[in-house]
Amino acid sequence: MTEPTTTNTGIPVQSDDESLTAGAQGPILLHDHYLIEKLAQFNRERVPERIVHAKGSGAYGELVVTNDVSRYTKAKLFQPGARTESLARFSTVAGEQGSPDTWRDPRGFAVKFYTEDGNYDLVGNNTPIFFIKDPIKFPDFIRSQKRLPGNGLRDHNMQWDFWTLRPETAHQVTWLMGDRGIPKSYRHMNGYGSHTYQWINAAGERFWVKYHFKTDQGIEFLTQAEADRIAGEDADYHRKDLWEAIERGDFPSWTVYVQVMPVAEAEGYRFNPFDLTKVWSHKDYPLIEVGKWTLNRNPRNYFVDIEQAAFEPSNVVPGIGFSPDKMLLGRVFAYADAHRYRIGTNYAQLPPNQARAAEVNSYSKEGAMRYYYNEPNVPVYAPNSFGGPHADPEKSQDDGIWDFDPAIVRAGYLQHAEDGDFTQAGILVREVLDDAQRKRLVDNIVGHVLGGVREPVLSRVFQYWKNVDADLGKRVEEGVRAGLDGSQS
Ligand code: NDP
Repeated sequence: MTEPTTTNTGIPVQSDDESLTAGAQGPILLHDHYLIEKLAQFNRERVPERIVHAKGSGAYGELVVTNDVSRYTKAKLFQPGARTESLARFSTVAGEQGSPDTWRDPRGFAVKFYTEDGNYDLVGNNTPIFFIKDPIKFPDFIRSQKRLPGNGLRDHNMQWDFWTLRPETAHQVTWLMGDRGIPKSYRHMNGYGSHTYQWINAAGERFWVKYHFKTDQGIEFLTQAEADRIAGEDADYHRKDLWEAIERGDFPSWTVYVQVMPVAEAEGYRFNPFDLTKVWSHKDYPLIEVGKWTLNRNPRNYFVDIEQAAFEPSNVVPGIGFSPDKMLLGRVFAYADAHRYRIGTNYAQLPPNQARAAEVNSYSKEGAMRYYYNEPNVPVYAPNSFGGPHADPEKSQDDGIWDFDPAIVRAGYLQHAEDGDFTQAGILVREVLDDAQRKRLVDNIVGHVLGGVREPVLSRVFQYWKNVDADLGKRVEEGVRAGLDGSQS
């Protein structure tokens, strides 16, 4: 015997087969409150999907620290031997929920660490860089990658219009159009914190850092043709791969590294170290191993654990801080704001977002969907005379401290010696990719541009790639012109 079905408030229900009607052929009655509850609940099953990174998959795991980086940070989760529970969410960016996992797109690589000092979120991507460097451009960028307002279609002309009008996108677009633009699975891609962050050690010394999560499964990719086929056959290809690997005990792992730049070196570095469209060369700042990050537990409920997961770059713990990276500073505001809109003001009380290794002693109270609250005798204001929590500078730190020129301006990044929109994109094409990779890059660009790019955008596309690399630009132009001629003959 199974348990009797009940309403949401525990009252046994009579039927899941027939609604209450006035006679067998008569109208449905409004006082069939179980029917009404069932339909109303169904209508409300969705929360708004994320405006970006809507299609995601995730799992729980842990970080184990294997090296001693305590000279750079006092953060408890990075101390030698520390073991910290973690949640990951991987995602595509522009597609909606249900869109194919194998569309060409960067992949979100969001990680939450449940530390003793509260939750630390590292909300990165599978790319070390990004398309733009100032958050004021973000809504424009994303609109250009999503759908036209009139017919609701995605539009390559719109995408290339934005990219070519914003040449700072060149490094990331080169990356995107290359092999890494479609990983074989979420297990076969690297993750990067992408931004420059700050680490603070026990003596109060500050360092700039970049995070690299290198896949232990090896980098693997899908060709455009493979990805197109899989998009038709199995839109959830990457979700299924991650789930099944963890179910069979084949736990994916990543080795975590950082690049560390002493604060005094930032000003003279050949690239502006806070510009999100640039990397720090490994030759200048080699990777330093931190630990091993493993995913070993699937969510028990996709909606609860993954759809309701709220990652926010504003969650930094003592030993970690922000930097003058403007995109990071914009995201520090935007993510928490998005969560308040999407899943409510008390989103931090939802299961995946609750602190698990730290006590929460917040003065925030009430608001829609509040589940947990302080004991009735704990005051609801600060300061107070009744033993309520108090801010303690000894246990905390200021996250956002650095020296800067105090003039308030609207200005671009300070230009460093080798900065330039096309410099690192050119290095990637000429010095990192081999001939076969360069050929696939050309083919991918040509195929994408032939997907509807028109003048005057088309001429700008050719110039954009010539600026990245003269030979690459020539090959792109030849390929596109041949394709256009072919389509007209
Ligand atoms: P390195 O030769 O030391 O590093 C090149 C790096 O490029 C590799 O370590 C690898 O990074 C990454 N890479 C390899 N194949 C591809 C590919 N098909 N698409 C994208 N990235 C790939 O040189 P530098 O550090 O001086 O960087 C040179 C260029 O490499 C940069 O301009 C940038 O475009 C790219 N790059 C640099 C990264 C960095 O953090 N320095 C990271 C990723 C790319 P990984 O080990 O992370 O897989």
